[in-house]
Amino acid sequence: MSLNQSHIAEALTRVSREVAEAAAAADRPAEAVRILLATKTVPPDRIGEAIAAGAGLIGENRIQEALSKQSELTPFIQDAPHPVEQHFIGHLQSNKIKDMLGFAAMLHSLDRPSLARKLQSALERLAADRPSGAPSAGQPPLPFPVLVQVNTSEEDSKFGCHPEDAAALVDLVESLPLLDLQGFMTIGLFSDDEEAVRRGFRHLREIRDTAEQRLGRRLPELSMGMSGDFELAIAEGATIVRLGSSVFGRRQPT
Ligand SMILES: *Cc1c(COP(=O)(O)O)cnc(C)c1O
Repeated sequence: MSLNQSHIAEALTRVSREVAEAAAAADRPAEAVRILLATKTVPPDRIGEAIAAGAGLIGENRIQEALSKQSELTPFIQDAPHPVEQHFIGHLQSNKIKDMLGFAAMLHSLDRPSLARKLQSALERLAADRPSGAPSAGQPPLPFPVLVQVNTSEEDSKFGCHPEDAAALVDLVESLPLLDLQGFMTIGLFSDDEEAVRRGFRHLREIRDTAEQRLGRRLPELSMGMSGDFELAIAEGATIVRLGSSVFGRRQPT
């Protein structure tokens, strides 16, 4: 069951308050945590309702679905009184890089060296074609913001690089001039054991802190926390929480 349209605005208000409360409980300002709406299975008009209600950050996790919704979604984005950014948050096959660059302003799921190299090559081709100046609609920012996805829960079924491989992937990304490493992303352990879930989020923050020291610069973003665990993620330093069902209602199994 998905919620009807007016419920989306109400739900967005409610989760925004819950996010602000979780931030306050962690002695962090509410502005330190952005809400990204995870819009898989949500039709464009409902995403549009969320945008009209103030949502400024949305993310798809499947390229095919993102492309099929984009033309219907674009007017909602263009008509919004505030800027709306689209990120890509799902597993990315390298043959879909160009599609991703057509709508996304950040990739949360850079999880392997081959993807980093191919993304650099695709961006080089785009940069060669682009006249100098600011990117226009449908053009990615250059350099392109990315987050390294780490599998902190170490469940076989999840994507993301192994924590022990994170440092090497970070160094590779840092060496690729058209990739702008902004931080890290993880999907929390699916468990009722709050301490175990929280440990995974803490691990991502520690990986970030270590990488900052090694690179000698800030890596500000930690994309972690979903509808069931965003409070724990915020307590451990999340700067982007990715919320789907808490705003749009429970998804039909696909
Ligand atoms: C679906 C999804 C979310 C949101 O999940 P909810 O539990 O519905 O909040 C967050 N991140 C990713 C990568 C997703 O695919």
